[in-house]
Amino acid sequence: MDKANATALRTAMIAAADAIVAAEPELTRVDMVIGDGDHGIGMKTGFTALKRELLANEYESPYALFHACGLCLVKSMGGSSGVLFGTLLIGGLEAIRGLDCLDGAAMCAYFCGGIDAVIRRGKAKAGDKTMVDALLPAKAHMERALADTDSVESVLKAAEAGALEGVEATKAMLPRLGRSKNFRESAIGWPDPGAISVSVLFGGMAKALA
Ligand code: ADP
Ligand code: MG
Repeated sequence: MDKANATALRTAMIAAADAIVAAEPELTRVDMVIGDGDHGIGMKTGFTALKRELLANEYESPYALFHACGLCLVKSMGGSSGVLFGTLLIGGLEAIRGLDCLDGAAMCAYFCGGIDAVIRRGKAKAGDKTMVDALLPAKAHMERALADTDSVESVLKAAEAGALEGVEATKAMLPRLGRSKNFRESAIGWPDPGAISVSVLFGGMAKALA
């Protein structure tokens, strides 16, 4: 799909929510080893509430849809990742204010604004072994993809590919931020759970917009 309106994006976010819920066992397994074990359940709770919210409502614009999604995650999820995933969905809203449809460039601008907001809020740096290590390569891949395409699907696929590269890279990183810092060396070899969630979110959206 080249452009997506609020209805298509609602379908994409429902698909992303299903993908996050399906990933819960993997997220839990990884967070049990390198964190406090609650990331999978937190994400499942937040995205189950998100799906319920989306099924019960219709949205007049992509802005209204993503705003509702972000607020729902902040309200329903605990832990650092509730605030951070909410920030990812709310931080870039100004880029899409007034648009009925998002093309690749608008989608890229929206998520890049959200990514910058997550970095400002959480203060994680590249290499700290957090979701930021999936978000930064996702941003770079989206920006690069725009040289060849203006399709919203292609931009989200690029975001997923970048995030997956980031997930691989987190395996070698020593945690410096968040609770997994308590596990230090034993976290080497394991990916960051928040980074996995980022790749699942982008992947779920991209697949639904194919
Ligand atoms: P908590 O750390 O409060 O238990 P979760 O388990 O839900 O929260 O989420 C853990 C994930 O949150 C980590 O895998 C990491 O990706 C992300 N995270 C934690 N703190 C930060 C931060 N300051 N900046 C960016 N991401 C962070
Ligand atoms: Mg945790």
